[in-house]
Amino acid sequence: MKSVVLTGGVGGAKLVLGLIHALPAADVTAIVNSADDFRHFGLAISPDIDTLLYTLSGKANAAQGWGREGESWAFMEALRSLGGEDWFALGDGDLALHVLRTARLAAGESLSAITADFARKWGIGARILPMSDDIVATQLVTDEGRLDFQRYFVERRCQPVVRSVEFAGAATARPAPCVVEALLSPETDAILIAPSNPFLSVDPLLAIPAIREALRQASAPIVAVSPIPGGQAVKGPTAKLMRELGLEVNAAAIARHYQGIADALLLDDRDPPADIHMPYARTDTLMQTLDDRVRVARAALALAASVAP
Ligand code: GDP
Repeated sequence: MKSVVLTGGVGGAKLVLGLIHALPAADVTAIVNSADDFRHFGLAISPDIDTLLYTLSGKANAAQGWGREGESWAFMEALRSLGGEDWFALGDGDLALHVLRTARLAAGESLSAITADFARKWGIGARILPMSDDIVATQLVTDEGRLDFQRYFVERRCQPVVRSVEFAGAATARPAPCVVEALLSPETDAILIAPSNPFLSVDPLLAIPAIREALRQASAPIVAVSPIPGGQAVKGPTAKLMRELGLEVNAAAIARHYQGIADALLLDDRDPPADIHMPYARTDTLMQTLDDRVRVARAALALAASVAP
């Protein structure tokens, strides 16, 4: 079964890791949010793509939830001693990725080509595609004014109250090469929407008109995995954001959000039976171990097969 996953960072990377153990890795394509990408000290940083690269190559720091395992911090210490801004932590190994990506972008390579090369160098068999090589930037309209994504997410630790979310540049952004082809390929058996933050990690992809249109045309069934098992976020601001946007924090609200895009929803065993107006299945979607990740991936693929035309 060939599958394509729309994903953000941590929650999505868990599902993609499960998929590459449930299927041959070469049959898995991840289309990754790049609207969290930003420039910091002149460096091009792609947090969600990097989370995928670290997770799928076995380098992720699972306990911390971001960055690399066994990281050293000499750069940050030197930076701090010089009075540099330290709200965004850059480990020494992580820094190498950003320095190289920045240099290669400056030399005219595309984000998608650089990402594919990094994945190959680290022995990742799955295909990792940024959603776009064009710049799309998530911005939050908050009670403290408009904030760039990383300022809101990392520096302000998601504390400002969010009124709305915007994706600057999305309306004119083109999907990266192979994105639309992967979604429309007759060989694609399932399109999964990972349990990533729907409003911050998945909506940027859906805001690119050609991606939304490809999802509408795709013949493969589209299955979303709920990112709020039992109405609670495993990590991050999903639940807080839903409340601030005036939504109920439950699987039914996730179903409504993906109505017209997803064909089916994978719910968590903890979710109460709800009025969900699309086909659904249930499993324990909390992915703590590798076995959990594989089980959730298989459940999502099985649900896709069951609703396939
Ligand atoms: P970010 O880019 O690092 O914010 O990561 P994502 O957007 O991919 O993930 C954040 C969302 O993933 C939150 O809504 C979490 O509740 C959800 N999430 C994280 N781990 C799991 C898990 O094991 N199971 C499920 N169902 N959702 C998860």
